[in-house]
Amino acid sequence: MRNVVIIGSGCAGLTAAIYAARANLQPLVVRGAHAGGQLTLTTLVENFPGFPKGVQGPELIELMQKQATEFGAEFLEGNVTRVDLSQRPFVLEVHQERLETSTLIIASGASAKLLGLESERKLLGHGVSTCATCDGYFFRGKEVAVVGGGDTAAEDALFLTRYAKEVNIIHRRDQLRASKIMQDRLHRNEKIKFIWNTEVEDILDADKREVSGIQLRNIKTEKEVLKPVDGVFIGIGHQPNTSLFRGQLEVDDLGYLITREGSKTNTPGVFAAGDVKDRFYRQAITAAGSGCMAAMEAERFLEAEH
Ligand code: NAP
Repeated sequence: MRNVVIIGSGCAGLTAAIYAARANLQPLVVRGAHAGGQLTLTTLVENFPGFPKGVQGPELIELMQKQATEFGAEFLEGNVTRVDLSQRPFVLEVHQERLETSTLIIASGASAKLLGLESERKLLGHGVSTCATCDGYFFRGKEVAVVGGGDTAAEDALFLTRYAKEVNIIHRRDQLRASKIMQDRLHRNEKIKFIWNTEVEDILDADKREVSGIQLRNIKTEKEVLKPVDGVFIGIGHQPNTSLFRGQLEVDDLGYLITREGSKTNTPGVFAAGDVKDRFYRQAITAAGSGCMAAMEAERFLEAEH
């Protein structure tokens, strides 16, 4: 039986692994379907403290994994397909393998929703981004598009006006879902333009591995236009990866795990860290911080039992 199993190998899971391993708990990290998490989808990360010249997202993840391994963390490839949290030890299935653990740290993240275009997938990290805070700086003086009409899109668009020459909000309806205060800010900002009732049909140019424009279709008039832009930010929301825990752990109205007193879920011995419980900050550094908290709480929980 394991002391600690960590589900997820992004920033939160790996930081939890470093702390749990240094506490001699020999954690096992189940790497998950998207091993390394969202940082592996980005390129240069310039806001993680300690890297004055920035660090590539995948490299940062690799360094964290090495650090966890140095202290004795173990890694298991694959995805957790079932959990039973009704009693301890908790039981997990990773494909056909059955695992038992005294404590569980859930760091399964949230996935940015995508439009589902082939070109979008190919250009992620090459002009298509799901994180304005991470990548906005690369579009200094450029023209960009933000897709979506909620608070995420609004926040992304406002943030991007710090760098970009023009920010086009592409929304499929003729009114925003974003909060009133954000809408007011958008309307007051001269760099922001709205393209209403419009869907993105395609992003060019996947073959060149850079964004040169977007093919748009007005859903009312069916008119199509090619709009030249240098970057596309997809701001249509995030989906927390919590389907495994539905009915077993408390989630909020959007499906994010609810934690209290740091990283405790409603089941003693189960902790949550990173984007799976964070609908607000969603940064690498906040995920890492909450991974640390979850590991320390798991350690204290185990200590209190002995
Ligand atoms: P959201 O409110 O669900 O908005 C998603 C937007 O993307 C909607 O406008 C939706 O269009 C559009 N959309 C969804 N799927 C699409 C698709 N396939 N193609 C084109 N457009 C698509 O999500 P969110 O903006 O991430 O916000 C989630 C929650 O977090 C909200 O409660 C929000 O208030 C909160 N939040 C708050 C802040 C803040 O306070 N600073 C920042 C970020 C998020 P429709 O409008 O047509 O549905």
